[in-house]
Amino acid sequence: MDDVQTVRHLIVGAGFAGLGAAIKLQEDGERDFVVVEKGSDVGGTWRDNTYPGATCDVPSQLYSYSFADFDWPNSYSPQPEIQAYLKQVAEESGTLDRFVFDTAVEDAAWDDRAQRWTVRTSAGTWSAQFLIVAAGGLSAPRLPEIDGIDTFQGELFHSARWDHDVDLAGKRVAVIGTGASAIQIIPELQKVVGRLDVYQRTAPWVIPRNDRPYSRFERAALRRVPGLRRLYRTGLYWAHEAYVPAFTIQPKIAAPARKVALANIAKGIKDPELRAKVTPHFEFGCKRVLRSNDYYPALAADNTELVTDPIAKVTGSAIVTADGTEREIDVLVVATGFYTTELPFTEHVTGRSGQTLAERWRATGMAAYKGTTIPDFPNLFMLVGPNTGQGHTSMIFIIESQLAYLRDAVRSMKERGIATTEPTQQHTDRWNRSLQKRMARTVWTTGGCQSWYLDAHGRNTTLWPRSTVDFRRRLAAYDPDAYQEMPMEVAPMEVGPVEVGPVEVTQ
Ligand SMILES: Cc1cc2nc3c(=O)[nH]c(=O)nc-3n(C[C@H](O)[C@H](O)[C@H](O)COP(=O)(O)OP(=O)(O)OC[C@H]3O[C@@H](n4cnc5c(N)ncnc54)[C@H](O)[C@@H]3O)c2cc1C
Repeated sequence: MDDVQTVRHLIVGAGFAGLGAAIKLQEDGERDFVVVEKGSDVGGTWRDNTYPGATCDVPSQLYSYSFADFDWPNSYSPQPEIQAYLKQVAEESGTLDRFVFDTAVEDAAWDDRAQRWTVRTSAGTWSAQFLIVAAGGLSAPRLPEIDGIDTFQGELFHSARWDHDVDLAGKRVAVIGTGASAIQIIPELQKVVGRLDVYQRTAPWVIPRNDRPYSRFERAALRRVPGLRRLYRTGLYWAHEAYVPAFTIQPKIAAPARKVALANIAKGIKDPELRAKVTPHFEFGCKRVLRSNDYYPALAADNTELVTDPIAKVTGSAIVTADGTEREIDVLVVATGFYTTELPFTEHVTGRSGQTLAERWRATGMAAYKGTTIPDFPNLFMLVGPNTGQGHTSMIFIIESQLAYLRDAVRSMKERGIATTEPTQQHTDRWNRSLQKRMARTVWTTGGCQSWYLDAHGRNTTLWPRSTVDFRRRLAAYDPDAYQEMPMEVAPMEVGPVEVGPVEVTQ
């Protein structure tokens, strides 16, 4: 391995998390890093999800870094604005010279002798002291397993890999799924396609999205009035955080929001039969609460049909439902989400004992210490790791909390001459026991729904079951007591023959 490049930190992925890590490491004087990204630009989610209607569902003033302002034109920004923001932040940060694009990390293995990660990429091998995994929690599209889907002769693509070359005007189009992406896509498609079939397994709760362009006055004020942007962001933060008790303690608290969601249905749909089909039969919040003003009107439009019969199979030109109905289509859009509890990237990360992260988690379910570090995987920090997800607020708040923890760990290790760290199994188990105990009380467990938050065993390994204030507090400082650390330059212990002299026995 003579062409191995050496680096202190190797960051995988250039989305909000990877870019944030690069900026914060640089700010701390840690300039010896690379960001390896398989795509050809920064952005992650916002580079890949270019489907019509793609928009954040947390206001942009909150869904952005606390340390990088932007003159947001809209309260909820469409994908091109968020992508433009991330590109601007990246350019202004002066870190882009250490990004390696169009390069996939193929595998990463801990070398216990060298006390470093050996990271093989499509463009060469790196040896890194720290591996910062920012490969995304909603990054690998999941295709539905439907009989015959591979025989479909028309155009077929996933919402996160939109094929902009396909002209949809006047076509017969089907959308499978009614989750967060689908409810943004459907109103846009309904306007242009000839016929739209929407295949729903479970109806989501949908509240209005109060999006609007900011006025020139508002934008000028947010730009110029000292402290106003921060005040506004803080207000938005607490307005979102107010959902936490309803989701984690007592679902009844969400009764007013549930009423708003029911009113949203009543406003958008007149037909009682269709209203019944879109009314969820589980607690508000059990699945991700969605926001849209135009989803229900789009379902009620003359050229849309909401199909709730289960899909039996796909043929070369149609979808066939369990009741035998065959609906011919030209284009099939699958909006069926992502791998969330079995992250494909974990197949390629091998720990000290030779086990991959995927193997470890197949046995235990996804679990980490503080959602960030993992026993047997020294010097690995996972951003947006197990049980860090949010159903109600901005993931950037979580990412920044994890970055604070990572920075403090790196600083603390440097100061104390520590080369490697990994959380103890005992602390990791204690963390996850307490977390799952708390999870049992949440609406995600008790709310009577199946969701992508849960793994194959019904365990919620994706969401954080407490407030985000609590998360930030717990990750505010690195806690070496929970870790096994190895000092730098420990010479391998030479165990030679031990001379045993006469043993004196004292009575
Ligand atoms: C459509 C959509 C809308 C969303 N809206 C919101 C919202 O409104 N509010 C909110 O809080 N969250 C939202 N999310 C969640 C969103 O994913 C996070 O907020 C955030 O963007 C995650 O950033 P990240 O950097 O962790 O991951 P990502 O943005 O997914 O970035 C991961 C990066 O890692 C790269 N990568 C993966 N594997 C490899 C590999 N092997 N080698 C090299 N590179 C690799 C990927 O190419 C990608 O660029 C949304 C998600 C989706 C899909």
